[in-house]
Amino acid sequence: MANEKIIVLLGPPGCGKGTQAKMMVKDVGVPQISTGDMLREQRSAGTDLGRKASEYMDKGELVPDELILDMVKDRIRKPDCKTGFILDGFPRTVRQAAALDKMLGGLGLALWRVIYFDVPDDEIVRRLTGRRSCKACGKIYHIIFNPPHSEGKCACGGELLQRPDDNEKVVKERLKVYIKDTAPVIDYYGGKGKFFKIEGGNMGIEQVYAKVKEIAA
Ligand code: AMP
Repeated sequence: MANEKIIVLLGPPGCGKGTQAKMMVKDVGVPQISTGDMLREQRSAGTDLGRKASEYMDKGELVPDELILDMVKDRIRKPDCKTGFILDGFPRTVRQAAALDKMLGGLGLALWRVIYFDVPDDEIVRRLTGRRSCKACGKIYHIIFNPPHSEGKCACGGELLQRPDDNEKVVKERLKVYIKDTAPVIDYYGGKGKFFKIEGGNMGIEQVYAKVKEIAA
């Protein structure tokens, strides 16, 4: 039972987790599980969970563990997760990391790789405030570093939008929360054989992906 490719992508908001996860889905052949995307879907659908989560997301705070853990527990039991999955944006606290270990243990599974993208704070602010994503397909652009061919439009024809929490004030709050609550997760996994760090600050998307591919292969 040790062949499932269960991969955790760790790092500050805007470090490239989502972009890299989307590229990995095809090569690794397992789904991306983005807790942020799942919460945004719940919000768009107007569910109770979506409404509760919005209060935290709009301020750049973490959504309480209880709400996140049930959502992840249900998702990883779906049939498409049988051969593995890529966790993007989870775990974000040491408590979530410990709960993940317990969930996987209960299913007879174990983590395959933890990939940490180390990107400096000033670069994060630059990346996030210029980030735009496609309303239709989710593809991520940057207005300067990775601009779309025609302004405001994705290659698929969809409209490009800025996330409400990608403005400078909320980005700075998200970074504070990251340092306080999520950075300790690096120590939780660090030192174990499955932990890999990529210095992603000065590298382009393809350069980072070449390293990711080596690690996840
Ligand atoms: P993301 O798209 O990963 O940047 O997540 C956007 C927002 O969703 C975060 O700022 C949090 O408010 C919330 N969120 C996403 N994943 C988690 C998580 N694992 N734990 C708590 N809150 C989360």
